[in-house]
Amino acid sequence: MRARISGGEHEVRARVILFADGPHSLARRTAGFETRPAGELRYCALQADLESVANDFPALEFTADAARNPFGYSWIFPKKDYLSVGLGRLTCVPGPSLVRLLDEFIRSRKDLKGLRVLRRRGAIIPAGPAPILTAGCGLLIGDAAGMVNPLTGGGYVCGFRSADIAATACAKALHGSTGPDGILEYGRALRRTRQYAAIGLAGAALRFALAVYRNTGRSLYPQLLGGYFRAAHAAMRFGARSF
Ligand SMILES: Cc1cc2nc3c(=O)[nH]c(=O)nc-3n(C[C@H](O)[C@H](O)[C@H](O)COP(=O)(O)OP(=O)(O)OC[C@H]3O[C@@H](n4cnc5c(N)ncnc54)[C@H](O)[C@@H]3O)c2cc1C
Repeated sequence: MRARISGGEHEVRARVILFADGPHSLARRTAGFETRPAGELRYCALQADLESVANDFPALEFTADAARNPFGYSWIFPKKDYLSVGLGRLTCVPGPSLVRLLDEFIRSRKDLKGLRVLRRRGAIIPAGPAPILTAGCGLLIGDAAGMVNPLTGGGYVCGFRSADIAATACAKALHGSTGPDGILEYGRALRRTRQYAAIGLAGAALRFALAVYRNTGRSLYPQLLGGYFRAAHAAMRFGARSF
């Protein structure tokens, strides 16, 4: 496999290559990893950290407003001395810019209006798994693999799970009994996980809601998101540690 490093072209020899380089992964330009199909779903998200020392926000807040943002939602995550306030939306649904939506959301809230912006962060978030997870000696994990919940855009839990399974497959391939073909086991094992099943279900629900929206102009996204959070809450009450 060839790689370009710091502007120069070098031959890199490795028994295993882990692509953990996010939504714009180099894997997309690497032989064997299919480019994503046209119409691939993804979110763009923007988050501002607002100074708020000793704030008394009791919990995480999520707000879906189908009129302003038919396929997306805003959030407030209270931290020790600041608030992370963000907003995401599906890129394929036209609407106002994220900067405008986020500014309007902040201005609409008395408890956020006027707070100093410490930093902003924006990025693309994939909303569905990559069709090919391993090729040659390469594996995709995290956002590079599209291991993100398509309804919420949350990628931490699924990303960590994919990294964990990839690490086991690599260790077995490099030091264990399976040999180099062992990394193929990664894709099979990942597709058997609860997280991967949840991504598939959430993706199907999202595509159904998009089809309804395109035919009727009505967005079912707020209901889907609400249903997802209620299911996640119930699962955690029955012992699930993550969802
Ligand atoms: C605003 C925002 C808020 C979010 N909030 C949440 C949340 O609350 N909960 C949640 O679960 N998820 C959240 N997500 C999604 C979550 O951030 C991602 O799913 C997660 O960070 C993916 O991790 P990753 O390591 O796969 O990719 P990334 O975090 O994108 O990391 C990839 C790394 O690879 C580096 N890289 C890329 N290309 C190269 C290269 N060619 N050479 C060297 N390095 C390279 C990048 O610089 C980066 O450091 C949020 C995303 C955004 C944009």
